[in-house]
Amino acid sequence: QVRVRFAPSPTGALHIGGVRTALYNYLFARQTGGKMLLRIEDTDQNRFVPGAENYILEALAWVGITIDEGIGVGGPHEPYRQSERKHMYRDFAETLVATDKAYYAFDTPEELDEMRQTFEKQGSAFQYNSITRTRLKNSLTLPVEEVQAKIAAGEPYVIRLKVPAKEEIRFKDLIREWVNVHSSQIDDKVLLKADGMPTYHLANVVDDHLMGITHVIRGEEWLPSAPLHVLLYQSFGWERPEFAHLPLLLKPEGNGKLSKRDADLGGFPVFPLEWKDPATGTVARGFREDGYLSEAVVNFLAFLGWNPGTEQEMFTMDELITAFSLDKIHKAGARFDIAKAKWFNQQYLRQRSDDSIAELLKASFPASTAEQVQSIVHLLKDRVTFPQEIVEQSKFLFEAPTQYDEQVMNSKWNADVAGVVQAYAEALPAVEPFTAETAKEALHKVTDEKGIKLGKVMQPLRVVLTGAAAGPDLMLSMEIMGKAEVINRLTKVL
Ligand code: GLU
Repeated sequence: QVRVRFAPSPTGALHIGGVRTALYNYLFARQTGGKMLLRIEDTDQNRFVPGAENYILEALAWVGITIDEGIGVGGPHEPYRQSERKHMYRDFAETLVATDKAYYAFDTPEELDEMRQTFEKQGSAFQYNSITRTRLKNSLTLPVEEVQAKIAAGEPYVIRLKVPAKEEIRFKDLIREWVNVHSSQIDDKVLLKADGMPTYHLANVVDDHLMGITHVIRGEEWLPSAPLHVLLYQSFGWERPEFAHLPLLLKPEGNGKLSKRDADLGGFPVFPLEWKDPATGTVARGFREDGYLSEAVVNFLAFLGWNPGTEQEMFTMDELITAFSLDKIHKAGARFDIAKAKWFNQQYLRQRSDDSIAELLKASFPASTAEQVQSIVHLLKDRVTFPQEIVEQSKFLFEAPTQYDEQVMNSKWNADVAGVVQAYAEALPAVEPFTAETAKEALHKVTDEKGIKLGKVMQPLRVVLTGAAAGPDLMLSMEIMGKAEVINRLTKVL
């Protein structure tokens, strides 16, 4: 059975790229009838940010990603928060020492710094590896008694992976295909820190193993760590999961990686939800608060690095689950084309029912009934990209115009039209009930009686009522304005 995990670190707001990673994991799990796990990787206490875990849960819930096992739901491998699993990792690191796959290292930060500087003076970068480790203080170079004495005396130490000297590390990524790295490129990475906490590498591999993860699907920024992880699986003698590294998200122009700064400059959010940084108080915009519908965001994210290979563009979550496949994921970075996100939003806004959008907007129309708000939504939703624009564009319904489109008035307002408007204003009080339908019938009746073509009247009538030469359905607008207001506006110009 397929078991995948989303394993974010609670170091701040979840980046929209993280949501894409979660989404691809989720689609793969659902499609294969597998399980989706949520694990919190919080071993780096220095980078822990309060509120970040809740934010992650809220963001996943908002886009509709459900978790089968892990944080928030529990499961057979509890706890799913690495800080609460802290006691488990040391044994695994010690096992590697016992089998000569890892070693204790006693070098102080100052000693390492000195070594680094010596290397830099010679014009090369320092690596703690099979060559340099012989010149440093560790259980591979010191006599056994000295090592034991140091540990007994409580001297701080780390456990490092003993990366083999000359080995080709080779694995097939499901997206990147063959990855080859020579072991000389890999540091003897720290697995267990001096404070007893595991590093990301150790905790991640141990947990993926213990939790029975079959596929590691994550962002390309983790690709450089993958050879090390492959080595770790080998060192433990464990079968490794499949790896799939997702393409980078690029700036809208395609020139480089998407960063938080781009969002500020580009006028679009890079976080799913608004995020208030607890330390600085600064607020970063979120897709949700900017008026994006979650189904549009899901559709947009699905296409950032994947393509169904058909013409279909609009996908519900269920359709994505059916259509998704790892082998249709691209290698090349995906441009974060915000115009596309807007397009999706527009499409989904049109699909949403009037009452569900009205529900979102009701606070913006305190004086209107639910039914009235629905009518306003119905009138305007095909003309906007974001729900909030409905509020802005509905102002004309509540405020009589103070200016009238001059061009229309100069070219189309004449005695005949004025006569129609006058007769119409006089006929309206008797129109009951006053709806778009009945208002239209009454207008037809007046123009027929006067022998004037409706086409000659419609635009000036719109200008008289709204001030503008163009806009949404006029009869419906009139219904929402209400009879008294319409009569007011008509008589005002006469
Ligand atoms: N904790 C890592 C992150 O924050 C997880 C990387 C992985 O999926 O292996 O992205």
